[in-house]
Amino acid sequence: MANGTLTVLTGPSGVGKGTLVKLLRERHPDLYLSVSATTRSPRDGEVDGQDYFFVSRDQFMAMAEAGDLLEWAEFAGNCYGTPRQPIVERLARGEQVLLEIELEGARQVKTTFPEALRVFVLPPSLDELERRLRSRGQDAEAAIERRLARAREEVAAADEFDQQVVNDDLDKALIQLEAIMFSPIATPVAGES
Ligand code: ADP
Ligand code: 5GP
Repeated sequence: MANGTLTVLTGPSGVGKGTLVKLLRERHPDLYLSVSATTRSPRDGEVDGQDYFFVSRDQFMAMAEAGDLLEWAEFAGNCYGTPRQPIVERLARGEQVLLEIELEGARQVKTTFPEALRVFVLPPSLDELERRLRSRGQDAEAAIERRLARAREEVAAADEFDQQVVNDDLDKALIQLEAIMFSPIATPVAGES
């Protein structure tokens, strides 16, 4: 049976992960992007089951306790986690799977899927990160402050990752990410260790 590849993309909130992933998916429609569960409220335009599975904290904890999440973490006051089953099934079918998650979750995946390719997206500077968070205009001031405080810690962990991509010029970052993910050296994931 063919084995798929698992890529984990992380980096501080507002760095442009979602933007990069959207462009990547347009260019590679076969890439499977995991849909996470979260206790965060939907933003304008977000669709349940498409952007996230929006769940209550009790529902989230029940999933975590049942072992239904591949990884999970608390981020800026909300819980986020990756449903395990769709990932395991798609990897077994030989598909290419992408997780877009925060630092603690990415660290957990290193334990469960050591073969996963782990990529950290860096901002050109923390000032630019703040500008992007504010220009996105989707988070309240308190949420932006929490995200910025966390960003300082996250950026310091970039060296733990296999690859670093600086998202300064969007097109260049996309090309770099594409080269990393779609180069023939990506290692097949045999399964959980
Ligand atoms: P994340 O998913 O990492 O939280 P987003 O993809 O939502 O970040 O991007 C945050 C904001 O920054 C958005 O308004 C997006 O349009 C903008 N952005 C993303 N990449 C760039 C870039 N290379 N240059 C300037 N702005 C960018
Ligand atoms: P947002 O609230 O901006 O959608 O996401 C906040 C952070 O949670 C982002 O850094 C995003 O990558 C991360 N995130 C989204 N889904 C998951 C997940 O399933 N697990 C973990 N650990 N982080 C996630």
